[in-house]
Amino acid sequence: MTYTINNYRVRKLDDKYFVTTDHGSYSILSENEFKKLQQNNIDAKLKEKLLEREILLDKTNIDEAVRLLRNRNNFLFFGTSLHIIVITLRCNMNCVYCHATAKSMADKSFDMTKETAKKTVDFIFQSPNNNITIEFQGGEPFLNWDVLKYIVEYANKKNEKAKKNVLFTVVTNFSVMNEQKMNYLINNNVSVCTSLDGPKELHDHNRKYSGGSNYDAVIKWIKKFNKEYEKRNISNRRANAILTLTKKSLSYHKEIIDEYVKLGIFDVHLRFLNNLGLAKKAWPAISYTAKEYLAFWKKGVEYIKELQKKDVFVNERMVRLMTQKISTEFEPNYLELRSPCGAAIGQLAYQYNGDIYTCDEARTLTEDLFLLGNVHENNYKEVLTCDNACATSAASINDQYTCNSCAYKPYCGVCPVCNYSEQGSIIAKISETDRCKIYMKQFDWVVKENFIKEKLQ
Ligand code: SF4
Ligand code: SF4
Repeated sequence: MTYTINNYRVRKLDDKYFVTTDHGSYSILSENEFKKLQQNNIDAKLKEKLLEREILLDKTNIDEAVRLLRNRNNFLFFGTSLHIIVITLRCNMNCVYCHATAKSMADKSFDMTKETAKKTVDFIFQSPNNNITIEFQGGEPFLNWDVLKYIVEYANKKNEKAKKNVLFTVVTNFSVMNEQKMNYLINNNVSVCTSLDGPKELHDHNRKYSGGSNYDAVIKWIKKFNKEYEKRNISNRRANAILTLTKKSLSYHKEIIDEYVKLGIFDVHLRFLNNLGLAKKAWPAISYTAKEYLAFWKKGVEYIKELQKKDVFVNERMVRLMTQKISTEFEPNYLELRSPCGAAIGQLAYQYNGDIYTCDEARTLTEDLFLLGNVHENNYKEVLTCDNACATSAASINDQYTCNSCAYKPYCGVCPVCNYSEQGSIIAKISETDRCKIYMKQFDWVVKENFIKEKLQ
């Protein structure tokens, strides 16, 4: 039977060859097998192995390759799902890395008005996606509590007719939390997510609060929410937390992971710091090199492996996502590891004044390169098809030379916002970006540990 050799890319890891296709199937080959593939000197056994993963194509598997390619890019067909609303830029904290470039408490001109909130919800409901998540961000969103409630109630009312699956979530520092707010959020199915940078001395060092220890408030409210969910038999919900790593955090890998495990948060994202917002000014004091970060990340994931061996249920989020992207055809909905990325087509961010940005990170830059319109002036179609949306989306396709020769291309993504911040252009020299250096080594670790070693065991 005749076959064609599919387009493939390869990464040599120790003595193995990790071979991938555009549609995301992979195979792990020995040196001998890889040479045979290169030379098109393929024996029956190898042929069977390569046909099984569509590295060779014939009439028996071509339809499967097409189906997998379509499934992997399924996110292109639905419209924007995640809508981040910045209901105020005011904040009562002074975090060393603040991406949101928060404004002073006194200046209420940085609060979203109900009129803009209404227009924002009307705009969001124009998205053709049936699954809509509205995420409240700030500043500290609870400082504009009335507008948060207004949006929840107006969106629910609008949804009586639209009948979409609408989820709400709020990202808060818990500093102005109280029982009344907690009850409202639980009663109205608004999930909560906070920031927790690790043990008290580290958290309070990174996240400065003039009103005392923010760590104490965060721990108190995570526990209170989880207790209340249990009391009300809401089994599918937990208070969540995300982590920001500064230079100081790098000597705390165990303590950070232990802190999360203690609170029952089992998906720990040891994510690197972005050079955006206030972090840009503070960069020399709080940042680290890609090499320093990777040394920390490896210690963290090795520690998580030790815990897993002791039956502690905990994952590092990037390991989980990369493993899922390689081993299944299903998109885990992580907008940064997509090509094109989530900008505009996966998420939109609405500034307090109604300005619409490609994504949350984009609104932290002062340039209007990622500004797509305003809810008072533009409709969804105009916004999604404007020049800035198309340019950002096009720049996020990992099709330039470096990515096009990388075995991780079908699972990876590039970020025009970070590229612009790092190199002054949305189209960057990818191999020189920290993000590529980090993703490459993370993929290497995941493939070796979860695919090559697993296979040998
Ligand atoms: S960004 Fe780097 S790791 Fe990702 S596909 Fe491109 S070259 Fe590969
Ligand atoms: S531009 Fe960057 S930050 Fe924005 S969605 Fe894309 S990958 Fe994420």
